[in-house]
Formats: sequence, structure tokens, C-alpha cells
Amino acid sequence: MPASLLSALDGTLFIDGEFRPGAGPRLPVINPATGERIGTIAAATGDEIAAAVAAARRAFRPWARQVPRRRAEALHRLGDLIAADAGAMARIMTLEQGKPLNEARGEILKLAEACHFYAEEATRVHGETVPNDQPGFRSLIVREPVGVVGAITPWNYPAELVGWKLCASLAAGCTIIVKPAELTPFTALAIAAKVAEAGIPPGVVNVVTGKGSVVGQALVAHPGVDKIAFTGSSAVGLHIQNTCPTIKRLSLELGGNCPLIVTASADLAAAVKGAARRSFRNMGQICIAINRIYVARPLYDAFVAALGQAADRLVVGNGLERPDADVGAMASAEPLEKTRAHLADALAKGARLVAGGQAPEGAEFARGFFFRPTVVADCTPDMQVMREETFGPLVGVAPFDTLEEAIAAANDTPYGLAAYGYARDLTEIERLSAGLDYGNVALNNVDAGIMNAPYGGRKQSGVGYEHGREGLLEYFNFKHVRLHHGVEA
Ligand code: NAP
Ligand code: MG
Repeated sequence: MPASLLSALDGTLFIDGEFRPGAGPRLPVINPATGERIGTIAAATGDEIAAAVAAARRAFRPWARQVPRRRAEALHRLGDLIAADAGAMARIMTLEQGKPLNEARGEILKLAEACHFYAEEATRVHGETVPNDQPGFRSLIVREPVGVVGAITPWNYPAELVGWKLCASLAAGCTIIVKPAELTPFTALAIAAKVAEAGIPPGVVNVVTGKGSVVGQALVAHPGVDKIAFTGSSAVGLHIQNTCPTIKRLSLELGGNCPLIVTASADLAAAVKGAARRSFRNMGQICIAINRIYVARPLYDAFVAALGQAADRLVVGNGLERPDADVGAMASAEPLEKTRAHLADALAKGARLVAGGQAPEGAEFARGFFFRPTVVADCTPDMQVMREETFGPLVGVAPFDTLEEAIAAANDTPYGLAAYGYARDLTEIERLSAGLDYGNVALNNVDAGIMNAPYGGRKQSGVGYEHGREGLLEYFNFKHVRLHHGVEA
């Protein structure tokens, strides 16, 4: 039962293969749908962080030396155990994050899939031989694991964003210390429980909880951590880059401000459906959420009206009581306040409210961080909703006259994570795919990420990749071995 699982994880850290009660002060973890406290985490102390790094260092060489097949088997076991317990793990996630239970379960099952994907990749890490400039030599390019990884993750996808880093580390032969978001620590600890059950050797995976500015920063600063794999805001990503005291591998998956362009040749119904899904899923708390929409003028009025209706149809609910709700509570007061602020800014600057704009009514919503999916139209470039990442259930819409103008507006941002387009004209499709300056471009669909393809941002949206072969390469160093064998014939 999740209640007993939660109490077993309360205040614990996972270090060197064991759950131990944290020695530091306790921080509360809140259910964002009700405001109730569901448990506490321990703020990891300097000694505990040092113990986690030492355990990961001790475990590194033996783990890296295992044949890939063994590491693959461990990841397959982990994936099976996670999938088998998806219901209980999903309840933990919904309790701490607020997303509807069915969606949380889907995320847990995708984590299980990631375990199996990386298990398979583990056995397909190849090297190269390269031509030399003199006879009698052979050059081998071999891949060796980076070492100890410090993973720092946000609260919007508490399982997957831990899982991608953890699975890639284990496949590559790295060991890892995870610092999950303060809002959603129990999902990470529940994953650690599965790591222990899967018989993964002590020290290969560690989880330390606490404040990012203390515990996350300690991992960044620690000389025993070889790489930081970070997902979170651009501001914290930049801070990590600026404060890292030694040379370290960094992958930074950061914020976005993602546009959707709907051209005159688009399938209007499909574009509306895609816009509603990618603007509001997970209450817009997605780095690749659609923030702003540019619609060709001939389709504009029909699009705005239909998107408003689609937003109004979305069911908001307490994610535990309404497992099949479209959206749940927002994860905390902070993104809710930002959503309200961006909405107020847009309305003050002349935007038209088309749907939402307030919290849903009713006693069940009174104490949680709820808000209606909200659409504002006739937006202008000076509005925050069109310029900044809202990270909430608010989307702005504006008309355009030429595709050049729309692509220029879409690219006019410091971010470069994901962009979307709907068009049926082949010329328009090609201009969108070539012209959008983004790491991920989804055309006539809104699911920009798949496990087999690299996922990463440009500009202030980050450096490095997750997923795909490229994502796994982030966990390797290349070594050039130049061998003189002397055979010149
Ligand atoms: P955040 O505030 O940047 O926090 C992310 C993580 O960093 C948390 O674990 C946080 O700990 C920790 N942290 C905070 N300050 C730190 C410091 N000085 N040193 C080291 N670690 C520190 O982001 P968030 O509010 O959790 O998440 C929302 C952001 O993540 C959005 O901008 C979103 O776009 C981005 N995101 C990006 C992707 C992507 O793939 N590109 C995916 C999902 C989310 P605490 O929780 O204790 O503060
Ligand atoms: Mg934050």
C-alpha cells in the first residue's frame, strides 16, 4: 500500500544500497491537490552527501568492468519491477505532484520502457577504427564511462526525468547520485527501492534529498562528481555552469518558450486537438508545452473559437479521486502565481480572454493549486505569455499574414527547445522544418520526443541530449588508442 510505502520512505536517504534515516532537518512534502502534508524528507548533510559520493566512487570501477550484458540484465529486471508496481508508484507521484493517477501510471510505465530501451543500448556501444597517417599504426576509438554522475531533476516529470539519467548512467557503466526536486522526492526514493529489489550493486545508485541550493549545489561543487546531468530552469542551469568550481561534463536540459504555427493549409481540427493537448497536459508544466500560437489569418477566428471550446471541455480534478481527469492540481503555489501574473499582464495589454481565467469552482478545489485551462487571443509580442515560459495552463494566440513573419516570431526568443507546426502544403512543411531554430520540431503532431531520437535544446534551452544513441553518448568519454604494431605491408 502506498501509505505504508510512503511511511517507509519518510525521511530516508538511499546511500550505498541502503535506506538510512537522514540526520538533517526535515522538510515537509505537500499534496498540491489538498494542501495536506504527506510526509517529510531529510535535508542531506555534508557528511551524507560525502558518503553518497564515496559509495558511488567505490562502486564505479567494478560496475564499469561488468560485461554490458550483465548491466543490461540489471536494467531489464529494474524495468520489470517498476512496471509490476506501477499502480503504487503512480499513487505516490499523484500524491506529491498532483497529476491525475492514470497519467502518473503512464509515466511510470514509460520509465519501465526506458529501462528496457537502455538495457538494449548497453550491449550496442561500439567503437571505431580510424585510418592513420603512417603505415604500421592502428587507431582505436573506444568509449569509456564518464564516472560518477550527479543528477539534479525537477518536479514536473518526477519519474522520467530521474529515469533517463539513471538508465543511461547504468547502461554506460557510470554510477549515479540523484538529487530529486524538493516537491517530488518520494517518486525518486520509490525508484531507489526498485533498484535495491533488482539487486543492483550498492553504490551504483544513490538518492539524496534536500534543497537544490544546498544539496544540488554540493554535488556540483564536489570534486568526486565527474558529470552533472541537470534538468530544470535556465536560471538554475546557468547558475550551475557559472559556479562549477572544476571542469566537469555538464548536460543541461532547460526551459523553453515553445511556439506552434498553424498555416493556412493546416487541418484545422487536428491543429486544435494538438494545441489543446500540448498547451494543457500536465497543467502546462512541461518544458515543451506550447506557450504561444501563431495562426494564419484566414483560419484565425475559427481556430481561436475551437481552441476555447476544447479548453473548456477539459476536466480538472483531484488526481487521486478522478484518475481519468484531463488535468489535476498544479504542483505548487509558485507556477500557479506565475500563471495568474502572465494572464493579468496579457489582459492588461489588451488580450482577449477566450477560455478559463480562474480556478474551478467548488469545495473540492478550495485548498489545492487548481486553475482552469486558459486561452487568450489577439496577443502581442510584448506580452509575457508570448515571451516567457509560463509553465502553467495558459496559452496565447495571435494571427499572422506570411509564413516568414510567423517563423521569425517563433524564433525571436532566447529559447530553442521545441516548436510545432500544422500544415499540409509541402512547401510550407519544408520551410517550417528547415526554418525553426529548435532542437525538436514536431509537424502535424505534438509529441516531440521519442526514446529513439535525441532530445535536447538550443540557445538558453541547454546543451547536451537525452534519449537515442546521442543521449547515451553523453555518459561516455572517448579514448583514442594509437597502437604501433609495425606491420607495414
Ligand atoms: P529548478 O528550479 O531549476 O529546479 C530543478 C532542480 O534543481 C531541482 O532539483 C532544484 O532543487 C535544483 N536546484 C535549485 N537550485 C539549485 C542550485 N543552486 N544548484 C543545484 N541545484 C539546484 O526547476 P523546476 O522549477 O524544478 O522545474 C521547472 C523548470 O524545469 C522549467 O523551466 C522547465 O522548462 C524545466 N524543464 C526542462 C526540461 C527539459 O528537458 N529541457 C524538462 C522538464 C523541466 P529544489 O527542488 O530543491 O529547488
Ligand atoms: Mg524551482
